[in-house]
Amino acid sequence: MKAAMTTETPLPENRSRNFIEEIMEADLADDKHSGRICTRFPPEPNGYLHIGHAKSICINFGQARKYGGTTNLRFDDTNPAKEDVEYVDSIREDVRWLGFEWAGEYYASDYFQFLYDYAEYLVETGKAYVCDLSDEEIRDYRGNFFKPGRPSPYRDRSVAENLELFRAMRAGAFEDGARVLRARIDMASANMNLRDPLMYRIRRVQHHRTGHAWPIYPMYDYAHGVSDAIERITHSICTLEFEDHRPLYDWFLEQDVDGKFFQRPLPRQIEFARLNLTYTVMSKRRLLELVKEGHVRGWDDPRMPTITGLRRRGYTPESIRAFADKVGVAKRDMVADVGLLEHCVREDLSVKARRAMAVLRPLKLVIDNMAEGELHWLDVANHPDDPQMGRRKVPFGRELFIEQEDFQETAPKKWFRLAPGAEVRLKNACLVRCTSLVKDAAGTVVELHCTWDPASLGGDAPDGRKVKGTLHWVSAAHAVKAEVRLYDRLFTAKDPMDVPEGSDWRQGLNPGSCEVLAQARLEPVLGGAKPGEHFQFERLGYFVVDLDSRPSAPVFNRTVSLKDSWARMEGQPNG
Ligand code: ATP
Ligand code: MG
Repeated sequence: MKAAMTTETPLPENRSRNFIEEIMEADLADDKHSGRICTRFPPEPNGYLHIGHAKSICINFGQARKYGGTTNLRFDDTNPAKEDVEYVDSIREDVRWLGFEWAGEYYASDYFQFLYDYAEYLVETGKAYVCDLSDEEIRDYRGNFFKPGRPSPYRDRSVAENLELFRAMRAGAFEDGARVLRARIDMASANMNLRDPLMYRIRRVQHHRTGHAWPIYPMYDYAHGVSDAIERITHSICTLEFEDHRPLYDWFLEQDVDGKFFQRPLPRQIEFARLNLTYTVMSKRRLLELVKEGHVRGWDDPRMPTITGLRRRGYTPESIRAFADKVGVAKRDMVADVGLLEHCVREDLSVKARRAMAVLRPLKLVIDNMAEGELHWLDVANHPDDPQMGRRKVPFGRELFIEQEDFQETAPKKWFRLAPGAEVRLKNACLVRCTSLVKDAAGTVVELHCTWDPASLGGDAPDGRKVKGTLHWVSAAHAVKAEVRLYDRLFTAKDPMDVPEGSDWRQGLNPGSCEVLAQARLEPVLGGAKPGEHFQFERLGYFVVDLDSRPSAPVFNRTVSLKDSWARMEGQPNG
């Protein structure tokens, strides 16, 4: 099955090629893999995917599709202690949601027997040995960047003895950590990864797929390349920290001299720079800590940089793919500005989201010169530029709610919103002038009284007078009460991990990252919206219906405000 996705626009022909595209095009030109391109996305199912993984997904699936190739989803489940099916399910869901379909779904654990057989082959050919040193001794023998390693006293065991011991390891004869299998490469190599790296360790733990079948588990460096070769991956794209592991990746595959195990040409590892994002942390381990310690409500908390969190926040797959495309493919580590991610979702939602009016912090406004019970159903466009999105009826009557912050009793200079004696436009409705106000015992303004100009209904005043301010509002009699959750950055620190030695990165958490407004009022049409539906609340930003939402008690999340500082920086018009 080919990667089936047609919604993304193809690369413009004039866009310069990134280095992965250059490699793929050169391989196609040389007919290296008989015209095949096959990539894989290899998550370890030990957490939920984050925006960094989204970048990797977009590269692996996007590049393969560009050249008519396919992509496998491979769960790299060689580390049973931290893995779980909950994560497997979420990963499948997230990749699909991002708009990608995999050709094959595989698990590194499916290859445990193959990996074992190949390891026996390496033992038989004198290229692997069983080592009885402890972890600490292995580290010590290995030396360091300045000091060559010393050979393990077990390095020259006979093939027969190695084979017997390795089989006994597999049979479960030894305690955890008693022995390991190591590749026999070069203890003096300048590349530490080649100093007889571990291939297998003894771990008598249950695996979420293979149960208790295996008391030994292969190491990542060994399992990964072999899995790639089994699946006949052509280009194995990974992040930069594996650059120094590439000689090892190649070594493991090249030992199969007579082609008993792998078909040539072998896969090639290509590294690109990990994506980081400002004002958040990105490693699964730290995200898990935030979840476990209750700093967020879960993996899908809308403040999390996880794909499930971004989805709940109101991000669209298109906006995340656009972001991945804009950050590009780099050879040097980078930190993308979260403002760019926000810019991408604004651009997408500005086209897709229907407009509606909602008041977050309501203040009652009474139009004194309108009759009790008088009601106008205003005919309003759902989108200013897209007639296809249709129109709706918005009720307008004597009692309304406006935003508290749109009124000031003592207005500063250049205040164009409401104040005693001032006149403003009510969006889609008419002009009103504030005539008086009501305060409670504490002196807080609780109600405004206004007069309206009926001649301005649905347009301008006939005398041509202008007002500078336009306010959003909802009809008090028809308003739907809702909870609205406003989110800010999860961390106040731009790089939360940049803390002095010994101090806690959690100190950078933003205590005000979630503000819940329980008294919001919505225009009636919003009352029927379903979880996941997007809207632009006029003047306030883009909002999405939250999963907690019920018809009787709607809940909205703010995805992003309207103000686009990134577009301004780039000198682009406001989305
Ligand atoms: P983390 O360190 O966040 O836990 P990981 O690398 O351990 O991530 P994996 O599940 O092993 O997570 O990653 C699956 C794939 O996604 C790998 O190919 C990895 O290189 C890639 N990937 C992970 N994080 C990023 C990132 N921040 N930017 C780009 N690619 C990433
Ligand atoms: Mg990993």
